[in-house]
Amino acid sequence: MKVPLLDLKLQYQSLKNEILPALHEIMETQQFILGPHVAKIEEEIAGYCESKHAVGVSSGTDALLISMMAIDVASGDRVITTPYTFFATVGSISRLGALPLFVDIEPDTYTIDPRKLDELLDSLSPREKEKIKAIIPVHLFGQCADMEPVFHIARHNNLNVIEDAAQAIGSTGIINGKVTKACSLGDCGCLSFFPSKNLGCFGDGGMITTNNTALADKIRSLRVHGQAASYYHTHIGINGRLDAIQAAVLQVKLPHLDSWAQKRQENAAYYIKLLSESGVDDYISLPYTRKGNTHVFNQFVIKAHQRDALKQHLEQNGVGCAIYYPLPLHLQDCYRFLGNKTGDYPESERAARETLALPVYPELAREQIEYVVEQIMKFYKKV
Ligand SMILES: *Cc1c(COP(=O)(O)O)cnc(C)c1O
Repeated sequence: MKVPLLDLKLQYQSLKNEILPALHEIMETQQFILGPHVAKIEEEIAGYCESKHAVGVSSGTDALLISMMAIDVASGDRVITTPYTFFATVGSISRLGALPLFVDIEPDTYTIDPRKLDELLDSLSPREKEKIKAIIPVHLFGQCADMEPVFHIARHNNLNVIEDAAQAIGSTGIINGKVTKACSLGDCGCLSFFPSKNLGCFGDGGMITTNNTALADKIRSLRVHGQAASYYHTHIGINGRLDAIQAAVLQVKLPHLDSWAQKRQENAAYYIKLLSESGVDDYISLPYTRKGNTHVFNQFVIKAHQRDALKQHLEQNGVGCAIYYPLPLHLQDCYRFLGNKTGDYPESERAARETLALPVYPELAREQIEYVVEQIMKFYKKV
């Protein structure tokens, strides 16, 4: 049996009859840049994320970059995040000449550890603290970071909170005791519509959400070269727009997002049931959802003994799987200049050594999940 890690063709087949006419309409108008489709999807995503404003941008990476530009992150500043995330989170900090300050993750949720965040801030001098502009909690794999403590630590230290929600649209966390959508838990939220994300477009795309109207206006200006009116520039911005073709695709897909998330949750629950009954619990740890969170499972990630050998076994037997991420960012060649060494962020390093993502996409059949579990049992000699 073949079980790919992700199969986008199945989703496309089910939506083709709606997507093709929408694309055809754009071809006929030849209006590709911003325009009514982008305005409409911004309104819809703002509504979906329970946020006042949403601004379409060219990618999740540019969402992070423009968010930081909007709060004036600049050369010599520091921005806090974890070393266990996709490169873009940290790369966009460096793009602005700022430096990442790393905080390790919790071992069970893979998101920023609020106790270690507190410890880091306590250990810094007032002068060092002054350089810190923001915290970027990453809602990794589809689950929100522990936002209640992170947000309050940020406020106490006068820091902005930029959520990296690239993998977590539709998930919820808790803030001020209330269940709240990802992207409405901080000062602004960054989304990616990269094809493999839960809401994917037909290329690159992203969005920034915020409840702060002045910030939204600045973000809107920054994505078009910082202009206030055509050819009059109040900021130094970039070309960072979402285009009409991507917006039209997203308009067709958004109404299905919750049912896709539900399918992912059902698939995850089925894996968890089968794996807990399979006798492999000495060898693997299952994904953990923090109390009060809803997890949308952009990835279903286990920790496994002999991870690399298990991956090879699964692949040889037709099961797609992947390592997110094999080398934490503090140990990457390009960050050698920061002076970090192995052992500095032990939970991130352990996650990089032991985690493995299994197929969890909505169209996955129960028999395919059963087959994946059977292959895992075979590897650990439990059948
Ligand atoms: C995908 C992703 C991004 C970047 O999004 P792009 O749209 O690919 O630029 C940023 N952060 C995380 C955690 C991601 O998974």
